[in-house]
Amino acid sequence: MDSPAAPRGDYPVLGRDVDGHPLVYLDNAATTQTPAQVREAHDEFYRRYNANVHRGIHTLSHEASMAYERAHDRVAAFVGAAGREEIVFTKNTTEAINIVAHSLGETVLDEDATIVTTEMEHHASLVTWQQIAERTGAGIEFIRVTDNGHLDMDHARAVIDDSTALLSVVHVSNVLGTVNPVAELAALAHDHDASVLVDGAQSVPNRPVDVSALDADFLAFSGHKMAGPTGIGVLYGSAHLLEELPPFLFGGEMIQNVTLSESSWNELPWKFEAGTPPIAEGIALAAAVDYLEEIGMETIQAHENELAQYALERLEARPNVETYGPPPGVDRAGLVSFNVGDVHGHDLSSILNDRGIAVRAGDHCTQPLHDVLDVPGSVRASFYVYNTTAEIDRLLDAIEDAEPKRDAHVRENYHDRIVDHFERPRDGGVPGSHSFVVAADETSCGDDGEFAVSVDAAGRIDGVEYKSESCAVSTAVASLLSEYLQGRRVDDVGSLEAELTAVLDDEFPELRRDCVVGPIEVIQHGVAEYLAESAAPNA
Ligand code: PMP
Repeated sequence: MDSPAAPRGDYPVLGRDVDGHPLVYLDNAATTQTPAQVREAHDEFYRRYNANVHRGIHTLSHEASMAYERAHDRVAAFVGAAGREEIVFTKNTTEAINIVAHSLGETVLDEDATIVTTEMEHHASLVTWQQIAERTGAGIEFIRVTDNGHLDMDHARAVIDDSTALLSVVHVSNVLGTVNPVAELAALAHDHDASVLVDGAQSVPNRPVDVSALDADFLAFSGHKMAGPTGIGVLYGSAHLLEELPPFLFGGEMIQNVTLSESSWNELPWKFEAGTPPIAEGIALAAAVDYLEEIGMETIQAHENELAQYALERLEARPNVETYGPPPGVDRAGLVSFNVGDVHGHDLSSILNDRGIAVRAGDHCTQPLHDVLDVPGSVRASFYVYNTTAEIDRLLDAIEDAEPKRDAHVRENYHDRIVDHFERPRDGGVPGSHSFVVAADETSCGDDGEFAVSVDAAGRIDGVEYKSESCAVSTAVASLLSEYLQGRRVDDVGSLEAELTAVLDDEFPELRRDCVVGPIEVIQHGVAEYLAESAAPNA
């Protein structure tokens, strides 16, 4: 299938070059590009009727209010909601989930209640439920993921019971591409009178989604993943639940009547939209909905599934490629996550970037899912209406011989000393037993690795050993760091970051700050713990 599902001319950005190569944009699960029609709706608001909503009698305010309200109607129809009262505009999916979490936290979640969610949730939902469980005393259960990337439905049946107050499930996994059986799960939850929240961030943009068919009480999604602008997301909530829930934020717009002693709340959905809302963004989101519906959600679903199957079959045919999620032939969203041999995802994504190809590498905000997959991260290629199989061919071509390409990439882009440390990492070794070991699972870049450090009787570092599952540059920096630490006083290490980043910035300006601070953060963290535990000598 060489043709896109939408005219590529709607997206001038797709015509640009990156590093002398035509751009291949395959990072759509993170953010999609914005077509001319959507940019025009956004621009027209500022050109013709920019004003605050629901506050003025004047013409501009009236026009803005009408367009903003119609945008709610448009989105309501798009997901099968009863009307605008069920559509709250938020900042993004994350905020939509947080609204529900906060409001349920004040009402139904307590020590007797359980939140059931899954191992494949995005941090937007997983971290939110962790926090709310901790604050309310509610329990939390995670439905397991099977080896073929599906939810273990037997486990779901075992953990959803009368204590379940909420089931929160991602409709389409942003890493595995799995399409979860939400209606079946919702039926289980409803049998036990639990509410159901569906994270639709990866489903609403690319397949028909209807809240009644899903039996969802809440549905959260983001404009920027569906040809819309950033800064706008949606919380669908069934009207009777939104009526019952307390508001999340307080202020103007969400009130009906205010005295010095009390206030009453505005009608839905405005009760959940405190302050000046994302007006231009909401109007542009409605234009994105028009745009997608004109193409047809079934067409988009079929297009994405075909691209994903095309990529998956060819990636799986490569002996050194490991893919994650359901096998070829199973319905999936338009994305494929994979690893190539021993080449770290950040290196692979740099190699691809050298060839104009934009993909994402890392844990994709699903660290626990990557723990289940037993890999520190993956590379994700994700497709949208404008992508073609010819672009996937360019991806496949670029990952051929990834290891030699990685080595060449490092040699071409980095200083000789970095190349030397990458090719001959010096871990120095530890004389005898180490004094402490620190694992690198706390780096801001998400790389994994481990430092073992030995400290002599005088409080000086006399050996550093590390194992690394990091990108080439992080490995080289860890090697440089090990060398640099030899003979240093262990209690000086706390102040190392500023000193070392200054040295590295000065000597190797081509290094990205993220790649430098990761290993430093790890070693500092280990030293701080070691000093706290052992009250290391100061002399
Ligand atoms: N859930 C899923 C499944 C996602 O893929 C994402 C975005 N990566 C989010 C939630 C969070 O979306 P946002 O950053 O727009 O809040």
